[in-house]
Amino acid sequence: MSEKKPFEIARETLKQLSVRKLAPTPANYEDLYSEVSGVPAEHAFPAERLRSIAQELPARTPGQQRQKGLLDSAIGQLNWDGVKAALVAYGDCSAAVPAQGNASLPPPSVPSPGNGSLTAQSVATEFLEQVARLIEYALPALGNDDARFTEQTETLLKAMRQPDADVLALKRMLGNFGSRLSFAAEDQAEIRGTLLKLLHLIIANIGELSLDDRWLQGQIDALLLASSPPLTLRRLDDVERRLKDVIFKQTEAKGRAFEAQEEMRHMLATFIVRLSQMTESTSAFHGRMEESARRMEQAKTLAEIAPVLKEVVTATRSMAHDSLHVRDELRGMREKAQANELELVKLHEELDRVSTQARHDPLTGTLNRKGLDEAMEREVANVRRKESPLCVALLDIDNFKRLNDRLGHAVGDGALVHLTVVTREAMRPQDTLARYGGEEFVILMPDTPLASGVEAMTRLQRELTRRFFLTGSEKVFITFSAGVAQLAQDEAGADATKRADRAMYLAKRAGKNRVLGA
Ligand code: GH3
Ligand code: MG
Ligand code: MG
Repeated sequence: MSEKKPFEIARETLKQLSVRKLAPTPANYEDLYSEVSGVPAEHAFPAERLRSIAQELPARTPGQQRQKGLLDSAIGQLNWDGVKAALVAYGDCSAAVPAQGNASLPPPSVPSPGNGSLTAQSVATEFLEQVARLIEYALPALGNDDARFTEQTETLLKAMRQPDADVLALKRMLGNFGSRLSFAAEDQAEIRGTLLKLLHLIIANIGELSLDDRWLQGQIDALLLASSPPLTLRRLDDVERRLKDVIFKQTEAKGRAFEAQEEMRHMLATFIVRLSQMTESTSAFHGRMEESARRMEQAKTLAEIAPVLKEVVTATRSMAHDSLHVRDELRGMREKAQANELELVKLHEELDRVSTQARHDPLTGTLNRKGLDEAMEREVANVRRKESPLCVALLDIDNFKRLNDRLGHAVGDGALVHLTVVTREAMRPQDTLARYGGEEFVILMPDTPLASGVEAMTRLQRELTRRFFLTGSEKVFITFSAGVAQLAQDEAGADATKRADRAMYLAKRAGKNRVLGA
């Protein structure tokens, strides 16, 4: 066929294109042409396209840089084999394989010594990048008060990210950084400790300065307890809320006490004015009486006595009237003062009640519904942020009415307190216990999937049978039925509680003293 003339080959090629019903593309034409002519086709080398691909390849490590250079020169020489070799070696440079010298792991896929050392270098670069990131993540916890430390860190991070980092220099810098880091961490721990001590001091002082020790002492004790180590964000949250209650209560009470004091001062002033008026009118009266007595002594006739008598009667009447008026006024003032005092006592009691009942149940000291709503809001926000599971458990004491009827309401109250004490001790510190209703409690368990939530409640059941409630010499066994629901994605906290409630109801129907998952 090679003897064929070019125009014959071209004509035959066109013919074959139509016979074989092939699309008249340059590639098809080229293939057929080579077939007809018997000369193998040498497709044009796509240098430009390869070069644009090569440009997109990152050159983060020296190994990658070198292979990119080899790729470029292979493209320049239109050398497919060179392109292939450079791309394969480049691929090995990017692979994240473990550091050299780790005997337990398989060797890198390309065993040639040149490529092996390049791989190790790229791993080292990646490792340094990871350490650099680790340092960056840890920095916020150390604060940024120490300018020299910040500067040193920045220099270190920059050095670690250099393409051809000097390992020995890095080692020295990391050593320096390490010792400085330990000082900074110690400082932070000390600052935290001191802040905590300060907080305790402030809380204790609020208690001492309060207008009435009695009604704040409970809150202050709870605050001191809540702000004792180990501190967690949850506990700090509790401290903040309690402190807000205390401050609110004090401000209210102080404002009202100030008003009452002003009123008393005003009344005292009026009282003094009235007293002096009284004294004045009394001495005027005395003067008039003396004058009348003198005139009486001198009187010789009844006609002379009559006007004197009239004068005495008028003066006495006016005196009596004045006294009556002042007495009424004083009585009014006294009543007002008593009312004020009563109001203040009531105000204290009311504030006391409002404050302790704002978020906590007075009988058991656990959160009440309002407190639970707030805690739920916080936990649900945490779940969304950390994508961690949250379990909501609802428990209802079994046959509690019978216990009340048999042993009395006060013993029933004691049983409720006993349940909360055991629950607090059996659950983790990060779990939240709230009184949901009469003998119903809700427990929020963060970072807990359903199976673990059910397990935790079952453990609490066992703990309650182990630690019975003692009244007099009688052992009272308290059991409960509970439902546990894990908060679903996009589910409202209240809906999860409803599901737990339904599961609790099913547990009752199934014979009580059991835990069911929702
Ligand atoms: P079940 O096993 O089905 O839950 O029966 P139960 O008797 O526990 O439930 P029921 O709802 O019939 O009765 C609940 C009782 O709880 C009635 C109520 O008097 C009592 N209770 C509610 N709050 C308190 C409280 O603060 N103190 C006391 N001592 N009893 C309470
Ligand atoms: Mg009930
Ligand atoms: Mg019950």
